[in-house]
Amino acid sequence: MADQTVEEILEWHTRTWYGLPARIVVSSRNLHRVWADGLFLPHFGLVNWVTRQGLPTPVRLELTARHELGHLQTLPVPLLHLLSLGLIWRRGKGPRWWKILLALVAHQAIWELAAEGYVIATDPRAVRYPRPTWAHRLYRIFWGSMALLAAWATYLLSRVGATE
Ligand SMILES: [Zn+2]
Repeated sequence: MADQTVEEILEWHTRTWYGLPARIVVSSRNLHRVWADGLFLPHFGLVNWVTRQGLPTPVRLELTARHELGHLQTLPVPLLHLLSLGLIWRRGKGPRWWKILLALVAHQAIWELAAEGYVIATDPRAVRYPRPTWAHRLYRIFWGSMALLAAWATYLLSRVGATE
C-alpha cells in the first residue's frame, strides 16, 4: 500500500519529434504539469489515474509522464481531427452550444486515444506490466469508452442539422 502522505515526483525535460521543447512534471498525487516551449498546459489527471491503476509508483509515474509527452507528440492527430470537425461544422445547422460541446468531447477523446497509443507504442509496460485483473479491465474500459465517445460525438456532430 502506497504511503499517501509522501508525494513522489518525476520531471522530464525533452523535445518532441517536431522540435518543441517540453517540460513534464508528474506527481504520485495526480497533479501533473506540462510546459510546451514555456507555455503551461494544465492537464486533468483523471485519465492517468484510471489507466495506471494497479501499477507500482515508479512505473506509474514513468507511464504518466509518457502519456503527457504523448499529448505533445501526437498533436497533429487532434489537429487533423479538428480540421475535419470544421468541415462537418459548416454543414450542420443545429444549436451552436451543442455543436461546441460535441466538438470538445470528440476532440478530447481522440487526443486521449492518441496520447495513450503513443504510450503503448513506446513503452509496452503500459499493457504488459503485471497488475490485478480488475486494473487490466479498467484499462480496457478506458480504451472502449474513449473510442465510443470519439465516434459517438463525431457521428452526432455530422448529424446535427442534417434533417433540416
Ligand atoms: Zn491525457
